[in-house]
Formats: sequence, structure tokens, C-alpha cells
Amino acid sequence: VDPGPAPAAPAAPPSDALVLFGGDGVGEWVNVRDGEPAGWTVAGGVLTVDKSVGDIMTRRRFRDYQIHLEWRIPADVTGEGQARGNSGLYLAYLGKDRGGYELQILDSYENETYVNGMAGSVYKQSIPLADASRPPGEWQTYDVVWTAPRFAADGSLASPARVTALHNGVLVQNDFALEGETVYRGEPEYHPFERAAIMLQAHGDPSPPISFRNIWVRELD
Ligand code: MG
Repeated sequence: VDPGPAPAAPAAPPSDALVLFGGDGVGEWVNVRDGEPAGWTVAGGVLTVDKSVGDIMTRRRFRDYQIHLEWRIPADVTGEGQARGNSGLYLAYLGKDRGGYELQILDSYENETYVNGMAGSVYKQSIPLADASRPPGEWQTYDVVWTAPRFAADGSLASPARVTALHNGVLVQNDFALEGETVYRGEPEYHPFERAAIMLQAHGDPSPPISFRNIWVRELD
């Protein structure tokens, strides 16, 4: 699906949004590895992954929310498959051992990979309903509604996590009920939690790092 051209400038957040990255400073974010202020690069209103720093996550914890995020694969991207502009929006991040729930970010413009690993996929669980990718060098948007899983007092699953996602305004996930955390290998499982950080992935592949801008969230619970 051709989503049309990227807007010339990002739209202003709604008045009740919590801005997670508005262009200057990453005060809402910390490094996963050490909890220190996020070490990614901020320049020209844009946040760029620093793979030597690793993943970053929000200071705050969230449960149910709407998030808007814009991302750009660099025009000079290299590599293929999962090694081309790989990042990820972790809608709930449970720590290094467990990982969490990843909406994949990848250059899926004329780049073949397994379909449940392309941009707009719930990683290894749900194929996007369309490929709405723009070419490298252009800004792309995610608009996502996340409903966290609920757990009974004994830790058993009461209701699954659900996700609705638009990629460049095109519906790619329609109230998908997750089977558990998104895992690279093995069967998804649920592990109880109440609130969790949002995480942005610094993937270990050698392709040039991607960038983000205009990240905001509206809490729904
Ligand atoms: Mg990823």
C-alpha cells in the first residue's frame, strides 16, 4: 500500500498528551543498561539511536495508552532482511531477561524478510495487514493503542494484551490479542506485571542507526 507522501512537518500533539520526545532533550528516557540519562544523539529536533549505548526506555511506567511516534530509516541504510534499519517499539518492557512486547520497526521498503518480522508486525506473532512502508530517508508514523494484559491475583492471565496500530495512517494491526511476550525463539508466554516502561530498541545489526521524532503518549487507564 502506498501511504502517500510524508507530511512536511510533524503534527502538534493533542493538548492532553504527555510528550516523551519533542525535539530537545531526552529527559523522559534512560539507558536500559545503567539507568543513566539516555545517551542517544539529539540534533536538529531528532533523536538518533546510538548502538553503543543500547536500548533506551521511559522513566515512567504505563498501562493502557495511545502513542504516536515518528521514525526514519537513514537514506544510506545498508544490509538486508532483519539487518536493515532494525529497531522496535516495545509497548511494555519487562527487563533484559524477559524482553517485552515489540511492535517491529524495520526498513520494509523493498526489503524481504519473514512476514511476521516486517515493519508493522507484532514481532513473530502477527503479520501486518498491509505494508505501508515509505522509502528510506522519509519520515514514517506509528499510531498505536495498547491495552496491557491483566492478571488475576494468582498470576494467571485474566485478559490478553491487545494492540491496534496504524503505520503511516494505514491500519496494520486491528485489536490483535497477543499470545504473550514477543520472543525471537520459542513460544510466547505471559508473566504478570502491572505497569511497564516503553522501550526503543538499539538493534545489534551493523546498519546505520535510525532516528525518531515527535513521540507522545495519552494514558487511557
Ligand atoms: Mg526489532
